[in-house]
Amino acid sequence: MKKEILIIKTTEKSQFLNITRQVQAVVGSKNGVLTIFCPHTTAGLTINEAADPDVVKDLLMKIEKIVPEDTDFKHVEGNSAAHIKASLIGSSVQVLVEDGKLQLGIWQGIFLAEFDGGRSRQVYLMQNAK
Ligand code: ZN
Repeated sequence: MKKEILIIKTTEKSQFLNITRQVQAVVGSKNGVLTIFCPHTTAGLTINEAADPDVVKDLLMKIEKIVPEDTDFKHVEGNSAAHIKASLIGSSVQVLVEDGKLQLGIWQGIFLAEFDGGRSRQVYLMQNAK
């Protein structure tokens, strides 16, 4: 079993990008558990409402308030707030796959959370399946 890699271009310093369609497109096996992993330290992955795009806008607005830029940060790269936000969001999600379809709830989507963009990001996918 080898991993699949999605390349996702982000355009904003901080944004949530709905990657559900790209993920669904690479689901190979009929049934199993799909792990989706973000191999970056200033971006992450989450599942939340995709029906109303204002939900992730609100989520992003609140995360920005929870973790403001701080001149006391020690990290010389100057992007500690982005590292903290990425850890709060987390770097992986799992979704069940049945008959080749992601088993997301009706309102759910899979989002790449960018906190230090825009840049090119990778998303790894691997499905454990029979
Ligand atoms: Zn850094």
